[in-house]
Amino acid sequence: MSEPLLFDRVAIIGFGLIGSSMARAMRQRGMAQEIRGCARRAETRDTILDLALADSVHESPAEAVEGAELVVLSVPVGANEEVARAMAPGLAPHVIVTDVGSVKQAVIRDVSPFLGSGMHFVPGHPLAGTEHSGPAAGFADLFENRYCILTPPPGTDEAAVEKVATLWRRCGARVELMDARHHDKVLAITSHLPHLIAYTIVDTAAGLEESERAEVIRYSASGFRDFTRIAASDPVMWRDVFLNNRDAVLEMLQRFSEDMSQLQRAIRWGEGDLLESIFQKTREIRRGVIEMGQAGTFDPREPDTHEPSQSQ
Ligand code: NAP
Repeated sequence: MSEPLLFDRVAIIGFGLIGSSMARAMRQRGMAQEIRGCARRAETRDTILDLALADSVHESPAEAVEGAELVVLSVPVGANEEVARAMAPGLAPHVIVTDVGSVKQAVIRDVSPFLGSGMHFVPGHPLAGTEHSGPAAGFADLFENRYCILTPPPGTDEAAVEKVATLWRRCGARVELMDARHHDKVLAITSHLPHLIAYTIVDTAAGLEESERAEVIRYSASGFRDFTRIAASDPVMWRDVFLNNRDAVLEMLQRFSEDMSQLQRAIRWGEGDLLESIFQKTREIRRGVIEMGQAGTFDPREPDTHEPSQSQ
């Protein structure tokens, strides 16, 4: 028996990888009576209609959110303030607004001032994604078995939180509640710093002499390949993540630099035992990730090619 509708009208503002994947999951699993899409560019609006991801498309956020029970903000973190300001005149009095941004304190700061007293804001962040962007890159199973962290500020209406949690559970995600500040700190080390490192390594390789660069690309199986995948992630999205989670990222970067110096020293002084014990410890972390079912490419359509390799 199919599950009941969760919402009558849903508006999704920003129809990239995440917004379009949510639309697909909501349609496939019968969660919304009607989905309205909102995108800046005509090209994106055309794709939404071509792929039948929404019942209607709108350029104006205020028009898109009219009469919506749920509004999903799925734009780069730095665009939320502008979008919230633009949609505010069209919001229904008891609307639930949620978002999917990778940084939570900044989004709460930027969106909350535009919501009236009877409206509910339930910020969220699905820990799922690929290096691809745009509406054609999404797929309904993106959130399957992934975590989705909700960071409702204290005092948020519990029924609204539960409704957003139910939406994510029906998208296949495991829902956790967390304080926004804590979220930003945890994600700084688990997601933001790894992306920064990947961008740096690939940029360093790009700066090598022409002949060496060609070899880096040819022999990229030796570890570099995985960094290039991460470093292919959307430039605007990641620019906004670093600018909006500055303090937590800088703190983690400081710790990382200290640990890197320790490794540098160990290599310089031939301290093999220290190197081996650190690498042994990190291997255990990987085992933990696999046991939690969080390994893989985040794209269930691709085989998991990221198991620990003995040879690389
Ligand atoms: P995306 O594929 O690049 O799509 C972004 C969408 O936002 C596009 O529809 C774009 O509209 C719209 N947009 C961009 N700038 C805008 C602006 N200034 N004003 C209004 N609309 C704007 O991005 P995404 O990967 O779905 O990411 C969306 C959000 O999800 C981000 O906040 C990101 O932090 C978060 N997130 C991403 C991932 C991931 O791995 N990708 C994972 C979890 C959470 P046009 O098409 O009209 O240009």
